[in-house]
Amino acid sequence: MIRIVVNGAGGKMGREVVKAVAADPELELAGAVDPSHKGEDAGILAGTERNGVTVGGSLQTVLEETHPQVVVDFTSPSVIFDNAAAVMEKGLSMVIGTTGLTEKQRTLLQEISSRTGANALIAPNFSLGAVLMMEAAEKISAYLPNAEIIELHHNHKYDAPSGTSRLTAEKMGAARKQEPCEDRTAESIPGARGAVVEGIRIHSVRLPGYVAHQEVLFGGEGEILTIRHDSLDRKSFMPGVVLACKKVLTVPGVTYGLENYL
Ligand code: NAP
Repeated sequence: MIRIVVNGAGGKMGREVVKAVAADPELELAGAVDPSHKGEDAGILAGTERNGVTVGGSLQTVLEETHPQVVVDFTSPSVIFDNAAAVMEKGLSMVIGTTGLTEKQRTLLQEISSRTGANALIAPNFSLGAVLMMEAAEKISAYLPNAEIIELHHNHKYDAPSGTSRLTAEKMGAARKQEPCEDRTAESIPGARGAVVEGIRIHSVRLPGYVAHQEVLFGGEGEILTIRHDSLDRKSFMPGVVLACKKVLTVPGVTYGLENYL
């Protein structure tokens, strides 16, 4: 049994992780953290039966009391680096779903990993379909270099553009064999053409009702190719999270992207 602490256990993703960990015979929910739900039962908070794991208000305290092997983090971009650094300094491994870590911060976590032996998987998207969508976008980009991304999420998402769209654009930029056409459109309102990552425009939609969706549009001579992925339920992320919890202890260092674990 791999002992897991869920950080952000009261959040939309955290509650699903609590249920997924409890349902897997190889994983044990050792602890749960979420300051605004301190003292509540993690099972009841997740919408299932009482599981006897009381949500703690401090990650540090819960780690000292529960001695986990892996911490799963779905909190907020504003706290993820400090959380991950503190956990990995203790030699504990991390499965990081929280988006927002910069390349520099990932490098700093790799340095901690090299010193302490803690491993980490940082995955902007844990859904298998989204990983396959990124792989397809990377392949197509080699032949159709002109592309834009539209990502659509619920209106409570903390950051824009999404981590998935950034990673998709990075992969597409690296796979491109030709430069895209020059963009000659002048913005009459700043931001009208979206953010730019690796020369690829990313447009972020935030509306109630959406979960996590992404379209990649490729334009060629007289043809358009569109690929789209829709996460309709947060359950779609759980097989990837469970896989990562089992694998992170055996894959050394800091890994970026679930595709490296498949
Ligand atoms: P959410 O519903 O707001 O949940 C975040 C939870 O973390 C909240 O309960 C929040 O409490 C809590 N929290 C904040 N700071 C904390 C801290 N320092 N220690 C412990 N808990 C803390 O957000 P969500 O939709 O679950 O998303 C969480 C993160 O996962 C976001 O970065 C999102 O983009 C990302 N995400 C990733 C994937 C993926 O596949 N990788 C999928 C979906 C979402 P308060 O409400 O009191 O602040």
